[in-house]
Amino acid sequence: MAAHASVIDVPWSLSAKFVGSFAYMTVKDRLPTILTKVIDTIHRNKNKFFEEHGEEGVQAEKRTISLLSKLRNELQTDKPILELEDGMADTDLWNQYLQKQQELLDKQEAPSWFKSPWLYVECYMYRRIQESLHLNPPVSDFDVFKEAKTQSYFESQQAIKAICTHLHGLLEGVEGLPDSQLQGHFLQLLQVSLWGNRCDLSISAGKENAQKCSPIDSLEELKHFILVDDSSMVWSTLMNSNMSGEKPQVRVDFILDNAGFELVTDLVLADFLVSSGLAREICFHGKSIPWFVSDTTRKDFDWTIKQTLATNHRWVSWCGARWQKYMKDGVWSFHSHLFWTLPHEFCDMAADAPDLHNFLQQSHLILFKGDLNYRKLTSDRAWDHTVPFQKALRGFEPAPLCSLRTLKANVQVGLPPGRGEDLTAQEPDWMTGGRFAVVQFFCPSNEQQNPRRK
Ligand SMILES: [Mg+2]
Repeated sequence: MAAHASVIDVPWSLSAKFVGSFAYMTVKDRLPTILTKVIDTIHRNKNKFFEEHGEEGVQAEKRTISLLSKLRNELQTDKPILELEDGMADTDLWNQYLQKQQELLDKQEAPSWFKSPWLYVECYMYRRIQESLHLNPPVSDFDVFKEAKTQSYFESQQAIKAICTHLHGLLEGVEGLPDSQLQGHFLQLLQVSLWGNRCDLSISAGKENAQKCSPIDSLEELKHFILVDDSSMVWSTLMNSNMSGEKPQVRVDFILDNAGFELVTDLVLADFLVSSGLAREICFHGKSIPWFVSDTTRKDFDWTIKQTLATNHRWVSWCGARWQKYMKDGVWSFHSHLFWTLPHEFCDMAADAPDLHNFLQQSHLILFKGDLNYRKLTSDRAWDHTVPFQKALRGFEPAPLCSLRTLKANVQVGLPPGRGEDLTAQEPDWMTGGRFAVVQFFCPSNEQQNPRRK
């Protein structure tokens, strides 16, 4: 549903208040389904809690389920959004955000599940799940999505073996390769990482969504589904960064999305960047709490490297050993700033998380994986499809950045005139079905860039 952004400078936020919209269907159907699964998962783990914590664990399980059932009821009956009460590091920030949402409305109305911006209420639901656990030690550290993430990893074993074997083959001959061949390999792995983003458990409401076949074999037939392909600009950015200064220390940042197969594709791409000399340093950014079902936390990241290392497959465990060493040597690092699990649009980052914004300004290239990052990059608003990506970023320009995203929410900018309408006529669910993708790039002008990157 493209809106006419020309009428006002910034269009409205997507919201469940538009009955029949994808946001509406998500809040009405998908979010309660996810909550029900969360409740089931906690209930199924009752014996585990008893074994670990005795009767106290069982009581905590009961209280958590009661809070989650209350949450589901609030959602389904469009109750006002409540303040958080768990006293965590970000609790005040959430409550201030609620205050801001209240100020946008007149006094008669309170922010609520079906009236407030979809981005806000969807993030809020995951934060409330976390609150239900936080308030109930000893189960407060339980990751309700861990089982689903682990299952998705194991169900993608064939594809993981194929991609790790492929990386080994590439790296054997990588030294002294002419740039043109290096570019070919890079673009291929960038696409593997792009399509890895289809394996998203929040969109399938926790149902199995794994990669079963070799990801390399399907790249050619998938090309047709990439609506915006700026990958050659991503390549040029890396090449230019490597040619600037005497000893360029090129840093690439991955703003991660999902654990499971997608994370492995990101690690493979990151390994290639380092091994080929295109980058010297990789910073991975993940979530500090379980998020949108399958998003990567520090525990998921460490678990994945450990699993690959322990796998009974030569090239998968070969990769695992390399990745463990990169982490140990500080070539790779993992960061989980609280900002990534706030509801804020990224254009708020400079004001609301200046430390993170400054950190990202040191990067030569930021890869934003997945749909939620795209929604936050573009403020999750009803932009016209032809609005330039830069305009939708609304001043968020810390460094050259690229969104690698399969489309699962109805916001898409930067398309040529008529393209959105054609797609809507051919495939009405083109923005939400996960079949289409973008590699969408933006580079701030030199004057705005940090001296390190010049
Ligand atoms: Mg995700």
